[in-house]
Amino acid sequence: MPEMLEVEVYRQTAAQSLGRRIVAVDASDAWFLKGGTDEASVVGALVGRTFVTDRRRGKLLLLDTSEDGPTLGLRFGMTGVLELDGVDAIDGLEYSSHRKDPAWERFVVYFEDGGALRLRDPRRLGGVELDPDEERLGPDAGDASLTQLRAVLSESNAPLKARLMDQARLAGLGNLLTDEILWRAGFDPARAAGSLTSDDVAALRRTMRTTLRVLGRRGGSHMGDLQDSRHRGGVCPTDGAVLLRRTIGGRTTYSCPQHQR
Ligand SMILES: [Zn+2]
Repeated sequence: MPEMLEVEVYRQTAAQSLGRRIVAVDASDAWFLKGGTDEASVVGALVGRTFVTDRRRGKLLLLDTSEDGPTLGLRFGMTGVLELDGVDAIDGLEYSSHRKDPAWERFVVYFEDGGALRLRDPRRLGGVELDPDEERLGPDAGDASLTQLRAVLSESNAPLKARLMDQARLAGLGNLLTDEILWRAGFDPARAAGSLTSDDVAALRRTMRTTLRVLGRRGGSHMGDLQDSRHRGGVCPTDGAVLLRRTIGGRTTYSCPQHQR
């Protein structure tokens, strides 16, 4: 599914739509409109305006509009794909089909120059919202300060992995990134979040930033070193131990019993 690295690529793609006059919007899929908005509101808010700023917070893509118009928030759920001017932002991602089935088009913004920004989502778990409440999300995992990360984890008995994936506390990490980061940092995803020492949190933050940078360069959250071992009987690429496969925070989790403590 799209995690923050994929949405970051979507943001860079959407940046190419800035300054282009919006002449029409297809927001006819009522299910896809969130936050109590409807088709007429979305069309009325966007047509005649341009996108002026592209931003991202965690997995939420934000496009501010001209003339004090609203901010458009796009969420990609499990399978959402962003397409600009007929070209997918990311080719060949594993989590979704890149077949261009018109039935999967959930939201389209048409520009005066003939181009269009399309959100395709086979499973329809993403959404579109005007002025989404950004404060309901924690700080972005790529920007979180040490103080912020300590606040996310401290005094919590929740499993470390569940806490890191709680978007209200820390925005952006999904299942694959979290497993990769904890594997690299050597922390057991099931241990209590609050059991990390101050030095542990600092080390985790360093690993988190490095992992995001490296996997971003490689092309996405499925490019981790642990990825090929994510199957029953898979072994740790570092020490050869058979990986544990558990459900933590509701998600299938792979970790090494040998070096993750
Ligand atoms: Zn290991």
